[in-house]
Amino acid sequence: MCKLTKLFMGTMLLVFSAITLAANEATSFAYPVRNQNSSPTEQSGNANGFVITQNFNTSSVYGGSVASPNGGWCGSNVNLSLLPQTDEATCKQNNGKWVYGHTGVDLSTSGACGGEIKAIANGVVEFSVGFSGYGYLLKIKHTLPNGRIIYSLYGHRNSMMMSAGQSVARGDVVGHIGNTVGVNGETGGACHLHFAIFDQAMPPPTTPVGYVYDDKTGVTLSGNPITPNIIRYFYDPLLFINDRNNEWQAILPGTGYWSVNFSSTQSVTTRTAYVVNSAGDAKSLQSAVDAGWISSDVYWWNGSSWMHYTNPRPIDSYTISTGVTYAFGMLRTDLTLRWFTPGNNYLDARWRQDMSEFTNVNASLGFGRGLRETYSNDPNWDVTYGITYMVYEQTVNGTMYYATVAVAYSKADPLVRYVQYYNPQTSVWSGWVRVYQLISFSFFRLMPKTRLPIVDGFFIWR
Ligand SMILES: [Zn+2]
Repeated sequence: MCKLTKLFMGTMLLVFSAITLAANEATSFAYPVRNQNSSPTEQSGNANGFVITQNFNTSSVYGGSVASPNGGWCGSNVNLSLLPQTDEATCKQNNGKWVYGHTGVDLSTSGACGGEIKAIANGVVEFSVGFSGYGYLLKIKHTLPNGRIIYSLYGHRNSMMMSAGQSVARGDVVGHIGNTVGVNGETGGACHLHFAIFDQAMPPPTTPVGYVYDDKTGVTLSGNPITPNIIRYFYDPLLFINDRNNEWQAILPGTGYWSVNFSSTQSVTTRTAYVVNSAGDAKSLQSAVDAGWISSDVYWWNGSSWMHYTNPRPIDSYTISTGVTYAFGMLRTDLTLRWFTPGNNYLDARWRQDMSEFTNVNASLGFGRGLRETYSNDPNWDVTYGITYMVYEQTVNGTMYYATVAVAYSKADPLVRYVQYYNPQTSVWSGWVRVYQLISFSFFRLMPKTRLPIVDGFFIWR
């Protein structure tokens, strides 16, 4: 008789310090300042203690009445020569282009200097240098469980702390808030941290702090040469952490097949899952298959029997649908299965990310992540829903169109949301499609082949 142990609890678990991590592997993330488990926001008095003084942003706009995000610079659409640094209204009168791009977030406590800057995850220092526009700049390389590399950047530190090749653990102090802007630590402006995350091995950004310029031509404003080709690799860094700050985990103390049942109304993909062994080594599902940790087979329950996919795919390419029970085979006895859970903070950033991901996935339509034009939000669009949308430049066969991607979100539950796309070539809206997100799931061990109800409503297979 099997012990009917409830093996998974249907609540989110913070997993900080829960296990010993293999050296340098970035399996969980935390914020770079003050209280690392709670995010800086634009509101003062938040639980973190730091405030966002300039947000992540890649939009730009010609004239019009779009509300301004943070900051902005005026440039001409015609020859990209810099119009006089002036106000937005004057810029619009002169048919200039008001540009808002910022490849990271600026975090500050009322301009105070000296606060600690902490590593967001395990990693290795790529460089610690004096850099024009960033001052004493630190770049850390992080290896995700699936082998992907991302980098975090920390600008304007008050000293040249750290050096290339040093290993860091999440939470290590790697600098202090400063206002350095020059290669030799020359200072200027208020003390703050410029913090960014990007996912390509590329040279450090060149000169001031990553302001994108003309995303139509790809030509950059003098002194701000961050091109769309570069900015498209940047993430909204606080959202990136928010999505990885909490995660679901299930400890699976045994081999054999385990079923996964999603109790949410939404689905996810297996790309965001990974497994960790008792030594703390983490692998994506595909890497775990390759290493012989788990089976490549995935099954699903059709209501009366287990179905094996007739065309098995890479194990990290399945969509896990709501209300369907899946089975994964564990070939070791010491595995913990984890699933990143998109966070509940930064709803605005979450919606923007939905739209960016839509354009990335639909690149064949001509979208480019760096080609965003405007961003607008109407929280009272409908009785039940608010709407947020972006206008994108879209080039098809050499012709430029303005396309729209919109996200409608429930006022009652803003993570319940739908996306659709306006095709400017056909003047047709695509229709709303639900954007899915993992809310909860539970695990049961599978044994062949009789279904037995257990007292708390879970099921076990034997
Ligand atoms: Zn900045």
